[in-house]
Amino acid sequence: MPRPTWSAAEYAARVGAGDRVALGRAITLVESTRPADRALAAEVLAALPPLPTPTARVGLTGVPGVGKSTLIERLGRHLIEDLNRRVAVLAVDPSSARTGGSILGDKTRMPWLSVQPAAFVRPSPAGTALGGVAFRTRDVITLVEAAGFDTVLVETVGVGQSETAVRSLTDCFVLLLLAGAGDELQGIKKGIMEMADVLAVTKADGPNAPRARRAAREVKNALHLLRPPETGWLPPVLTCSATENDGIGALWATVADYLAHQQTGGGFEQNRRQQRLTALRELVRQELETAFYARPAIASALPELEAAVLAGRLSAAAAAARLLE
Ligand code: GDP
Repeated sequence: MPRPTWSAAEYAARVGAGDRVALGRAITLVESTRPADRALAAEVLAALPPLPTPTARVGLTGVPGVGKSTLIERLGRHLIEDLNRRVAVLAVDPSSARTGGSILGDKTRMPWLSVQPAAFVRPSPAGTALGGVAFRTRDVITLVEAAGFDTVLVETVGVGQSETAVRSLTDCFVLLLLAGAGDELQGIKKGIMEMADVLAVTKADGPNAPRARRAAREVKNALHLLRPPETGWLPPVLTCSATENDGIGALWATVADYLAHQQTGGGFEQNRRQQRLTALRELVRQELETAFYARPAIASALPELEAAVLAGRLSAAAAAARLLE
């Protein structure tokens, strides 16, 4: 049976009413690159009802194996069962980091969350450049919030590229670290540590617990050496165990503290305003770029100019100037 076609107003009404099928379809729509879909997606986003309650958007990052899935499953459960929140889980990943099409088989990764009416676990979109993924994730956040999910967890594999993107989408950025993996130093090198609002050393259980606590102390000391952030918030370093369900509530309490701190200081709204502005500029830049390369004159001149630049016969600057003419 063919799917019914919905107008933007119908999409918006269904999503606003919490219809999961409509939400899934609306997400597919905003992730689509087809011009017709893009136009409809923009209309749908504009037609969404305003949000009744403030939402929390939290980014979580860490190297593969740090325990993100296990932790998000636990954290999500805590949020739903103990704090009565509605949780959406989204993933942002550079496609290059994906193996065999999907490193994130979300249904099996988060079995409890995946079947909860109060949760929405969105598989990560495949095969798009990071810029595109991050860009569309912003719209996906808008959609899940409109559908009544007040807490959005945005997960990314900590491979050093997607963190900046996720930070530009969220209110609080949580860095997960593995004790003894040399991770602490990697984080510093990539500058990821400076971006974190809350840090947690995972798998602090069994024989690994003392090591995790020691790692947390080391990270705390290292943080003191880094430039203190302007916000007057020294990022706390916690330890937790998802499998033992230990420290998960404390982790969220710390995130909540940070959000409250941001609300009080005005940083919360300022951050979101800045993010909207960045999104606007990014949108314009992407549209201009797409339109530019779609022009027949550019498309026909490009291969030869690129070959000349590759061969060193023409400077990049000269080739760019010729194209822009
Ligand atoms: P991800 O790649 O970051 O999503 O990590 P996963 O959540 O898939 O976890 C990677 C491995 O670490 C799995 O084998 C988990 O069972 C294990 N793991 C996750 N959390 C914990 C924890 O709190 N304690 C221990 N001991 N193992 C954990």
